[in-house]
Amino acid sequence: MLKISGLTKYYDDLLAVDDLSFSVDEGDFVTLLGPSGCGKSTTLHTIAGLIEPTEGSIHLRGEDVTDRQPDERNIGMVFQNSALFPHMSVKENISYGLKMHGMDDEIDQRVGEYLGLVEMSGYEDHLTTELSGGQQRRVSIARALAYEPDILLLDEPLTGLDRVLREQIRDEVKKIQREINVTTLFVTHDQEEALSLSDQVIVLNDGRKEQEGHPESLYERPVNSFVAEFIGKSSKFTGSIDESDPSIVRNGSSTFVVDSNTPVKSGDVTLYIRPEDITLEPTNGYENQFEGTVSHIANVGSHSEIELVLEDGTPVLVESNRFPDVSVDDVATIGFRPQDVIVL
Ligand code: ADP
Ligand code: MG
Repeated sequence: MLKISGLTKYYDDLLAVDDLSFSVDEGDFVTLLGPSGCGKSTTLHTIAGLIEPTEGSIHLRGEDVTDRQPDERNIGMVFQNSALFPHMSVKENISYGLKMHGMDDEIDQRVGEYLGLVEMSGYEDHLTTELSGGQQRRVSIARALAYEPDILLLDEPLTGLDRVLREQIRDEVKKIQREINVTTLFVTHDQEEALSLSDQVIVLNDGRKEQEGHPESLYERPVNSFVAEFIGKSSKFTGSIDESDPSIVRNGSSTFVVDSNTPVKSGDVTLYIRPEDITLEPTNGYENQFEGTVSHIANVGSHSEIELVLEDGTPVLVESNRFPDVSVDDVATIGFRPQDVIVL
């Protein structure tokens, strides 16, 4: 449905998007994920035709739309701040796009239908300034969808909402997307949002694509330290691979056993272990076993997060699905399996 090739954008000397290529298949929910300033909004605005790229091309449904005006591309966009027209009613806001797309005779029917979809039926005549933040987001989603765009672009649509509302609207966005099967490109700096919503995630850093894949593969098989540290929590160790055995990593007196099939075969490496892959006070032996002092315990309801500090000062985070039998300042053992160590 959408194909971006070699997209590059300079603002004077500043390289905001650097040779970015990706595609979005029909009906998919794809997320651009990255820290603030990595070029997410610039990418979306170029796709919408609001910013002219320095280089590269944008194809929509197989057609090159790179040089087309925004209203000549069939794209629905939800901006970070809703960007509703303030002196217009909800109905007038939604009608605007319908008129632009020559759908004047379907206004009443479509306004009703799409307000229903975002659970805002009955708000046709309200001024947008009378709506709460969450309601404004809903209306701006309805406005972007009402003329049935080829693709829906969402630029951090949940920013500025409190946690409960954010999760609620996040779930609704996903529900709506499934219901009408609209191809969606979502932008966020929030990894939880990205992982929970997307079929495919593209991790951006400094205008470049670091990795692209299913949420699960990004979490389990990050290709570099940026992705490993940006997505999910982990404990981090450093060391060097043993020259005669690639499944051994040494750092001073510490030895780690890792999967011998790791793509990295020699030299200095960084090891990452996810908190749920570490067992506290294991009853059976693990190939990797270390002692540490418990420094913090946080019970977050469904599970506990326990922080320890190993003898060499390395902090370790353990997730336990039961109440831990340890207290702060206790010395405890941790264990993890070679195949759960991410070697980069
Ligand atoms: P993100 O949406 O990921 O936070 P942006 O695409 O907004 O990132 O910005 C990428 C980079 O380009 C940032 O360094 C930002 O300061 C810069 N930038 C964005 N818009 C402009 C602009 N209109 N003029 C100059 N620099 C800009
Ligand atoms: Mg942005």
